[in-house]
Amino acid sequence: MYINGKHVESIGGGWFPVYDPSTEEIIAEVPDSREADVDRAAKAARTAFDSGEWPATTAQQRGRLLFKLADRIRNEAGKLAELEARNCGKPIVEAEMDIADTATCFEYYGGLATKVLGHVNPVPDNALSLSLREPVGVAGQIIPWNYPLLMSAWKLAPALAAGCTCILKPAEQTPLTALEMTERLDEIGFPPGVVNVISGFGESAGAPLVRHPDVDKIAFTGSAAVGKIILRNAAESIKRVTLELGGKSPNIFFSDADFEAAIDGALFGVFINQGEVCSAGSRILVERPIYRKFVEALAEKAKTIKLGAPLDRETKMGPLVSKEQYERVREYQEIGKREAKLLAGGGRASSFSKGYYVEPTIFADVDNGTRIAREEVFGPVAAVIPFDGEADAVRIANDSPYGLAAAVWSRDIFRALRVVKSVRAGIVWVNHMQPTYVEAPWGGYKQSGFGRELGPWGIEEYLETKQVYINLNEQPIAWY
Ligand code: NAP
Ligand code: MG
Repeated sequence: MYINGKHVESIGGGWFPVYDPSTEEIIAEVPDSREADVDRAAKAARTAFDSGEWPATTAQQRGRLLFKLADRIRNEAGKLAELEARNCGKPIVEAEMDIADTATCFEYYGGLATKVLGHVNPVPDNALSLSLREPVGVAGQIIPWNYPLLMSAWKLAPALAAGCTCILKPAEQTPLTALEMTERLDEIGFPPGVVNVISGFGESAGAPLVRHPDVDKIAFTGSAAVGKIILRNAAESIKRVTLELGGKSPNIFFSDADFEAAIDGALFGVFINQGEVCSAGSRILVERPIYRKFVEALAEKAKTIKLGAPLDRETKMGPLVSKEQYERVREYQEIGKREAKLLAGGGRASSFSKGYYVEPTIFADVDNGTRIAREEVFGPVAAVIPFDGEADAVRIANDSPYGLAAAVWSRDIFRALRVVKSVRAGIVWVNHMQPTYVEAPWGGYKQSGFGRELGPWGIEEYLETKQVYINLNEQPIAWY
């Protein structure tokens, strides 16, 4: 792993295996970092933030470093995409898009580094009142396994642009691309300690990072369950926290939607990246007049989705990331069978003798109160729910502890926009689901977390505001 500009083992000397989920074979071993390693990384990041080259770097210089990193990632996109696909099981075509988005994210924040503006505050006295923006300090960043390198960029790029130093902990299942990226940082010119990447487990590496007194901020993407633990652990030192958590996002189809586009949009919304997507449209809400026809067409088409090896260019769905996730999704397939009507899939993908493959699964006639409609599966399992009219759609859509994303499909723009305004979610698409852009804000309402990533909102989360008052009166204060 990468601490203070050097590739190091863990102090305790432990390692843990990393798997290819399509073969279930070990493809790498990485250091198992523990509290002492976290401490070493936190000290390195603290020192790099407080002294040395980094605090003296200009925004232009930080921007250029990010551009260089983006270039390196683009130049080696093929290799990185292959490593990503092998480690998380996603189709190579999707991994290539992720790596391109990763480079774009570093470029975007490379440009934004020089556009952080302060303020002149219009105070009524003969004074100049300013607001300065300063980096928040040392950022601890904890990410999940579904978009490993892209999530690393969403975290590192705005933090570095702002002038923070970082300790990134990738998910235990997928540390390889983030570690691979660190091979380039020294040569690009990042001073030691500015970026640290530690491989390890949530409880033994993530938790000490959250509690560490030298860490000023925690940026977390992951499950709501772990988000709650993080908030509690961050309380001790009043750390700044941003949380990007899960979802159970509604994808809402009105009768007047373009039918063919709707079927594709429903499948894409829930099955892209094996359904291992925080914004997955896992609740498919369909208006009653088209409901029967819709669920039949959906089930028919779901059965044609091509499962395969991650590196096969024809593959549209790979294996799930891990045995644990496979078992979790299999369990939800069984829960769904007890709660609703199974229309497609429902089990292991039987044509594979190895690998964590499950069938794309669709349940129909789902009651929004059931577990399959309320709990995040994080796999290719869709719950189709009928509704009667606009008010009913909005009521069901909002009846969830989550509020990350939603989509609405209709040719009636007035209705679509009324639904957009009524849905409590951080991201709402109209006549599409999932396009994500570094220029636009990303984050959730309700138990999907707080704070926003991407765009100018993303860098805000790594900035403090300092108020400065400059007295312009030359005479003494003359109060006493
Ligand atoms: P997770 O179990 O919550 O883990 C996320 C990260 O937190 C991992 O690095 C994990 O380490 C670490 N962690 C676990 N326990 C911890 C603790 N006590 N203290 C500090 N860190 C700890 O989530 P996951 O299973 O990897 O990913 C799936 C979840 O992420 C889903 O709920 C999904 O919706 C969410 N997600 C959200 C977004 C978004 O933008 N809103 C994007 C992607 C994913 P280990 O790897 O060792 O467990
Ligand atoms: Mg985990």
